[in-house]
Amino acid sequence: MKSKSLLIIFILAIDVLVFSGCAGAPGKFARTREQMGTFVTITLYSSSGRRADAAIDAAFAEIEHVESVMSSYRKDSELNKLNAAGADGFAASDELFEIIEKSLEISELTEGAFDITVGPLVAEWLIAKNENRAPDAVALAEAEKRVGYKKVMLDHKTKTVRFAEPGMRIDLGAVAKGYAVDRAMEALMGKGIESALVDAGGDVLAKGKKPDGRLWTIGIQDPRAKSLESTILNVENMSVTTSGDYQRYIESGGRRYSHIFDPRTGKSSDCVSATTIAPTAMRADALSTAFCVLGPEKGIEVAESLNGIEAFIIDVDGKTYSTTGFSIFVVPEE
Ligand code: AMP
Ligand code: MG
Repeated sequence: MKSKSLLIIFILAIDVLVFSGCAGAPGKFARTREQMGTFVTITLYSSSGRRADAAIDAAFAEIEHVESVMSSYRKDSELNKLNAAGADGFAASDELFEIIEKSLEISELTEGAFDITVGPLVAEWLIAKNENRAPDAVALAEAEKRVGYKKVMLDHKTKTVRFAEPGMRIDLGAVAKGYAVDRAMEALMGKGIESALVDAGGDVLAKGKKPDGRLWTIGIQDPRAKSLESTILNVENMSVTTSGDYQRYIESGGRRYSHIFDPRTGKSSDCVSATTIAPTAMRADALSTAFCVLGPEKGIEVAESLNGIEAFIIDVDGKTYSTTGFSIFVVPEE
């Protein structure tokens, strides 16, 4: 309880418009808020503090809305209503239908490595995590029978989503954050902002250039490196998103059980980290998860086959793999 109130004080303290700059020239404004189970920071340049504040409010409101539709953790989210309806079918909102439709397309592009029907596996993983033990292999094998993106039926006319089998569950944890980041950026642009960075705990989208013509920089940290060494990227109108086992995992019997599953086997992936550069945060988010599952060789091969996508993958031995176009974005070390 005490730590919760301390946390709230901290959040209130940081959700304040921070301004730096000089009069006349566009100034830099930033605010951070806890949303979607992480800290979201919005940074932008504007010549008006009032406009900056209104834009950031609109962006946070957009993220809040996406969370109310797509969260697995909120009982009353639209997604949970859809999951409850299951095999009976559910007439979804345009946005929920769209993200499910796009997610199924990404499943096709990634040979089923990305699959939003991992819900039953994730549910088992969460029970194990709460009980501080390894996920139960028998329960996972049972859950795996209810996984499979081809068993999600879409009716485009009525925007109805129906599961072919009872007990299936959609989990948008690998894609909703990216989608929310895209929507937040649209909200900023709708308020006249042309240069901004939205960072939702590793899902980052950069728009435009800074007023002095420089590009936004985004660092990717090597999660297992002891030093704070990181790769720095320069991007414009691109998202950089990282997935990995370093934030959420169960450690038991000398093994790590990642929250990222291979939907084709029902087993936790042993991915350390996969970073994707893509034109939208939604695509970058989904593909990072897929590259984690596919592993370095296959992940890079699939990334090379996709237009406008770059990937950077770190394996368990710390070895790095990247697409040929990735280096264009890397800022050379001084
Ligand atoms: P991310 O951090 O974007 O890689 O998302 C990981 C989350 O996505 C997990 O916590 C699960 O909720 C969900 N998930 C796990 N494995 C997969 C998968 N293979 N495809 C799609 N979603 C997944
Ligand atoms: Mg993802």
